[in-house]
Amino acid sequence: MRRIFPKFKINEDTCTKCLTCQENCPTDAIDIEAEPPEIQKKSCIFCGYCEKACPEGAIETDWKMMRVGSKGNLELYVKELKKAEEQGKFRPYVDYEKII
Ligand code: SF4
Ligand code: SF4
Repeated sequence: MRRIFPKFKINEDTCTKCLTCQENCPTDAIDIEAEPPEIQKKSCIFCGYCEKACPEGAIETDWKMMRVGSKGNLELYVKELKKAEEQGKFRPYVDYEKII
């Protein structure tokens, strides 16, 4: 999935270090205390939750690329989500069937 999707990034100018994203990332991919704050692409499963949860709109990604990358890759995405769940990195909130 890392090859397909663009990285999520934190805008340091607007981030208030409230930790909402870090505390809610299902794979612990976010380190707000790091200098600069970072999102580990290696751990990120590109769920987009942090971008939606940030009250400052400080997390961004290239949504155009995301749409291109996800086209036709939903089955692969779900496969990666299941793998992350088996490894204890991810807890799904919805049925996988509803994603596809
Ligand atoms: S997109 Fe999902 S997995 Fe990636 S950093 Fe954000 S909340 Fe974590
Ligand atoms: S949720 Fe937004 S403002 Fe809060 S720490 Fe994360 S990036 Fe910064």
